[in-house]
Amino acid sequence: LISFDKVVKRYGDNVVLRELDFTVLPGQRVTLIGPSGSGKTTILRLLMTLEQIDGGVIWVNGDPLSHMYKDGELVPADQKHQRAIRKKIGMVFQQLNLFPNMTVRRNITEAPVHALGMSREEADERAAELLDMVGLKDRIDEHPTRLSGGQQQRVAIARALAMRPEILLLDEVTSALDPELVAEVLDVLREIARTTDITMLAVTHEMGFAKDVSHRVLMFDEGQILEDGPPARIFDEPSEERTKSFLHAVL
Ligand code: ATP
Repeated sequence: LISFDKVVKRYGDNVVLRELDFTVLPGQRVTLIGPSGSGKTTILRLLMTLEQIDGGVIWVNGDPLSHMYKDGELVPADQKHQRAIRKKIGMVFQQLNLFPNMTVRRNITEAPVHALGMSREEADERAAELLDMVGLKDRIDEHPTRLSGGQQQRVAIARALAMRPEILLLDEVTSALDPELVAEVLDVLREIARTTDITMLAVTHEMGFAKDVSHRVLMFDEGQILEDGPPARIFDEPSEERTKSFLHAVL
């Protein structure tokens, strides 16, 4: 479903991803771990086309995302094509980033109405269902500023799912929260993992959560994958010294 093929990303002289190769199968839930600056967030931002790659190709369902080969040359993919692929992907960020001037309902329904052409009624119905799933049905007409950080992240998850994405990207979604609010957000994500077959890529430092929900853990170091395996192996029997010291530092 998602395939990185020799993907290179640099910022100036800083090479963040070095010919990175990996494939994520449909329905797989993958946790990305590794030291700060190892390129985890960059991978999610590339998938959202918030950044462009400097080499290689990212494939989503067999379509090149930001670039494609033409006569052996790497050329930018067509914008329309890129937007169509991006519709299949939802993302929740570390920062709380709901639209503060819109109600919870509007936050969730804007994209389906404008980008998918869904009717207001259908979008409202879907918003109510999703809010029920994240335990916030009674807050539908509130503004985000009246919600706690944990509640805002739960709305952000509902907003991402409103587009019916095939892929959900989660970038340290609990890192900005007070510790007592972390569990409610992780519980919602556990429930989504249990009840749907959505493909998930999560950057997180919540190792207990990663162990519970992921099929696979990728340990990154300096823009490359250092280890790739099921959570039980990576967490309990890491083969690389750098993984051991990273886990020691975060656990
Ligand atoms: P963290 O856990 O700190 O978020 P990360 O593994 O997600 O780390 P990235 O955020 O992907 O790492 O960043 C990788 C490298 O790219 C870092 O060295 C960072 O300074 C650099 N970087 C990221 N975004 C930019 C940018 N917009 N401009 C310049 N450099 C950037």
